[in-house]
Amino acid sequence: HAERLNGLGTTIFAEMSALAVATGSVNLGQGFPDTDGPDSVLEDAIAAIRAGANQYPPGRGIPALRQAIADHQQRFYGLSYDPDTEVLVTTGATEAIAAALLAFVEPGAEVIALEPYYDSYAAGIAFAGGRRVPVTLRAPSYRLDLDELRAAVTPRTKVLLINSPHNPTGTVLTDEELRGIRDVAVEHDLTVITDEVYEHLVYDDHRHLPLATYDGMPERTLSISSAGKTFSVTGWKIGWVTGTPANITAVTTAKQFLTYVSGSPFQPAVANALALGNDYYTTVRGTLQSRRDLLATGLADLGFDVHTPAGTYFITTDIRPLGHTDGIDFCRLLPQRTGVVAIPTQVFYDHKPQGAPLVRWAFCKKESLLQEALHRLKSL
Ligand code: PMP
Ligand code: GLN
Repeated sequence: HAERLNGLGTTIFAEMSALAVATGSVNLGQGFPDTDGPDSVLEDAIAAIRAGANQYPPGRGIPALRQAIADHQQRFYGLSYDPDTEVLVTTGATEAIAAALLAFVEPGAEVIALEPYYDSYAAGIAFAGGRRVPVTLRAPSYRLDLDELRAAVTPRTKVLLINSPHNPTGTVLTDEELRGIRDVAVEHDLTVITDEVYEHLVYDDHRHLPLATYDGMPERTLSISSAGKTFSVTGWKIGWVTGTPANITAVTTAKQFLTYVSGSPFQPAVANALALGNDYYTTVRGTLQSRRDLLATGLADLGFDVHTPAGTYFITTDIRPLGHTDGIDFCRLLPQRTGVVAIPTQVFYDHKPQGAPLVRWAFCKKESLLQEALHRLKSL
């Protein structure tokens, strides 16, 4: 096979979910909820199939969904987008990320990404022929060091690939950090791809601030999100990108030859979902926050060094207090020893020693399942 596949192997999520099935384990590895999103949203997709939404939809997405995405950006962030020229519907955020990288990264260009980085970033950068340059969010706070970001920029840097709320650390970038990113992007005339799929999953008094709201950013930012997390429909794979007409046209050019179009019956359903009232959004956040607290407390009681996330549905732990040093070994043994699956965060690092003792746990699960996992982990 081609060199560009070297080092990509099998995604850790597929490996660990297969291990969970094979060992009958509680799966706190791959991030997917065990409760499907609101009945009304599910019914809308079924109704759309019955009403005949089963052939190719328009390439950029059905008008109702593009309008709903524009309305959502206006309602939550005061951002204005023209649904005809500044919004593109994609097959999940994953395709949006890949298409944006293909559209903006020349072979040999450098892409700065926050480390630990979501695994599809490495693949997307490799497919575009780019070079990944990680800037580490360092334990124990997992904050962005703006000096490190500035130092990572070279004449070959083309794209900043940002993710906030950040998977796997749960870091929600602050106003100061986002201003720093903006300053670097403007000074070096960089394109910024920002993955905001966890935009609505933020806890306590933390707030998600979209990069596109900062001066100097709208013209250089591709903002990416997806229905999967917010509406608990990760299998639907409906995502989107917003940006300037020229930037969205570029991403569309790549997207049209990756998947052409994206799942027609899910599009009207996601359009209706985005328009749900504030109650819906508040409830999702509240429910997940209490699950976060349940799992964080339980893991701390078991002796893990727990990092409580400000956003996303993942908790990062350091396993050293339990006498372990390598998360990969730990996660390979865990299912047999305890009947629980987690993700070794090391796979999201180029600087392997930084990630070695870290393990990620998903809490987007029913409380009874989280309790069962904690019970099983007592046999560690
Ligand atoms: N970005 C991040 C940070 C994620 O955690 C995920 C999770 N699946 C994705 C992108 C992909 O989203 P989608 O399922 O919509 O492709
Ligand atoms: N985003 C989810 C996670 O980080 C799952 C994504 C996937 O399976 N590709 O666990």
